[in-house]
Amino acid sequence: MNTADKDHHHAFYSGLQDTLGQLRESGLYKVERVLASRQGAEVVGSDGRHLINMCANNYLGLSGNEHTVQAAIQATEKYGYGLSSVRFICGTQTVHKELEAALAQFLGMEDTILYAAAFDANGGVFEPLFDAQDAIISDALNHASIIDGIRLCKAARYRYAHNDMADLEVQLQTASSEGRRHKIIVTDGVFSMDGTIAQLDKICALADRYGALVMIDECHASGFMGATGRGTHEHHNVMGRIDIITGTLGKALGGAMGGFVSSRREVIDMLRQKSRPYLFSNTLAPSIAGASLEVLKTITASTELRDRLHANTTHFRREILQLGFTIKPGTHPVVPVMLFEATVAQQFAARLYELGVLVSGFFFPVVPMGQARVRVQLSAAHSTEQINKALAAFAQAGRELRIIN
Ligand SMILES: *Cc1c(COP(=O)(O)O)cnc(C)c1O
Repeated sequence: MNTADKDHHHAFYSGLQDTLGQLRESGLYKVERVLASRQGAEVVGSDGRHLINMCANNYLGLSGNEHTVQAAIQATEKYGYGLSSVRFICGTQTVHKELEAALAQFLGMEDTILYAAAFDANGGVFEPLFDAQDAIISDALNHASIIDGIRLCKAARYRYAHNDMADLEVQLQTASSEGRRHKIIVTDGVFSMDGTIAQLDKICALADRYGALVMIDECHASGFMGATGRGTHEHHNVMGRIDIITGTLGKALGGAMGGFVSSRREVIDMLRQKSRPYLFSNTLAPSIAGASLEVLKTITASTELRDRLHANTTHFRREILQLGFTIKPGTHPVVPVMLFEATVAQQFAARLYELGVLVSGFFFPVVPMGQARVRVQLSAAHSTEQINKALAAFAQAGRELRIIN
């Protein structure tokens, strides 16, 4: 390298060091907590500390569950460790087809296509289906993967204020008056920072009025929202009126990884032909496909886990209010405990860790300025005793930091 090249080489690395230093100074540097145990209601940190875990997306408690683990082992025995192939060359096994059929049936859709992650599902769903003549009308707080997926597609973009049905209607009118061919409304079924449930009844009514399609991302809903856990569309009684559902196998449905799109047959068929994260990425590991099938069997046979999750959620929401904390009202197992100041949220989460409770603090820019919080997530795996122990720790830390009296 000549001197100028060396300088540029050096400038690249020192630039990264500067940016990382700024992240640390502003308290925005993310440190990963290291666990030494399975995921579950109680986990062991790499420091040996036992913690009640209240920040996993393990809503049904299936992630570290022995039945899930055994199903994954059995699928590995039968189908092997991996396929070393994309789906369309030699990466499709009977277990993948069975899982796609089972997911479609569970969600009340015609067909399903699997991806390596929901991030890929959202990244690959728009571009094959919509082009510059079309309109994508998206909630302002939709997940990052939806935003990226829309960016990869040539359709015109319209954004409506979060959960604001009047603004959604304005955007639908604008898209119509601008002569867009197809219109699709896109929303998270449940927004994970607040536990807000999208108003799918109203969204479907608007979609009908303006001739639009509806897509929902069910990552924080599949498996436990609605009377039998089908999702937000069941919760709002609009099953059969949703055109596209995306979701993850990495949260309630077992917690490993993997994503999917469920829709009409011709939509799924087109995605199999054209969706880039599907075509150019390896097939889902058979252990995950097999265990996910077992998870679907379990939650279809009985609503016990879903019912326990909701009972735990109701109990925690009631008691945390009794203690004098402020929470975002709602019914979802995501319970934002509001602390408002970023430093308070950090101190509170750190003190809870010392008291044996794992939660994470969220502050700007992840949530709006002055809206810092710890986000509690309930699980069907929590015992009442564990929840009460966690509540006692919240009470102690809350009094110490003068958040409550
Ligand atoms: C977690 C999440 C995703 C990403 O899911 P992965 O399967 O982990 O990639 C996408 N959308 C929403 C709304 C999520 O919460």
